[in-house]
Amino acid sequence: MIRIYRGTKTGRQRSGILSLVSLLMLSITIGCNQSNKNLSISTETSPPVKEAVSIPSGQSGKTKVVTTFLPVYLFTKAVARDAADVKILVPPGTEVHDYQATPDNVKAIATANVLIKNGLGLEEFLEDTVKNAQNPKLTEIDTSKGIKALNQISPVETTATAEKDHDHADGNPHIWLDPVLAKQQVVNILQGLIIADPANKATYEANAAAYIKELESLNNEFQQTLQKTPNCTFVTFHDAFPYLAQRYKLKQLAVVEIPEDQLSPTDVQKAVNAVKKYKVKALFSEPGLDNKLLKSLSQDLKLTLRTLDSLETGKTDPRYYFQAMKANLQTLATACN
Ligand SMILES: [Zn+2]
Repeated sequence: MIRIYRGTKTGRQRSGILSLVSLLMLSITIGCNQSNKNLSISTETSPPVKEAVSIPSGQSGKTKVVTTFLPVYLFTKAVARDAADVKILVPPGTEVHDYQATPDNVKAIATANVLIKNGLGLEEFLEDTVKNAQNPKLTEIDTSKGIKALNQISPVETTATAEKDHDHADGNPHIWLDPVLAKQQVVNILQGLIIADPANKATYEANAAAYIKELESLNNEFQQTLQKTPNCTFVTFHDAFPYLAQRYKLKQLAVVEIPEDQLSPTDVQKAVNAVKKYKVKALFSEPGLDNKLLKSLSQDLKLTLRTLDSLETGKTDPRYYFQAMKANLQTLATACN
């Protein structure tokens, strides 16, 4: 594995990290997964039917569902629509990987019926937050249930201080960026909601079916478009796309950690060499990441810097998933061509 930059971590890891070049099937994860608290559905609730009848949840009488971050919120909202009261803990625009829970988060979980998370160690903040909320009636849904995680390869000979928190990694958590795995997440959400709120079973099923149908057609669109450019190799600065790359036979290289200061000429030369060696077609940044260093690196590499959306932040309309993913497909198709 080649490393371009060995600098200190500055700020968010993801804005971040480029620890260089490992082929994508090996998902390197940097900053993106840790911890191994995999809660699967734990139903410590009283029998749901009885609860629905005798204990109105919240003023609306609707089941109170708390989700962790944007993709999980989008999928849950798609299944629940107005049949349940769905909230999000990590506000869009806030980094999920290093999120610190607020007292309001604890309060939200304390009064919720259901908690839905991505899983695979993404939501590090949850364990303590759930403990503090002391809600014995909480039903927890892990949307990654049944999904085989891509293992993160040990993130290299990183600098001594870094990456200790990856020791117990559950694998790369970015499953929502593969429409096929997203479908599994929706199914897990559906099953959990039915257990927690059986009265709305038919509604949840109908909503989920419609969304799943769209996920399937999105998958077809990805297949058809990207099969024209097999093995297209791209570089990212956030190890968010190994599942998507694996699904559609692309190759993601995750690269160097971007420091606040300048890359050294040696670093740049290493990156250039790696890009040549692997015939990299594209360099992808993310929405909201305006890094001069990335721009100058892309100039040195003679690659256009484009934007791929990891959907960790964005609009809270369930349609946003399709908008953003279709934009990603367009970007990939253009870059890989
Ligand atoms: Zn991420």
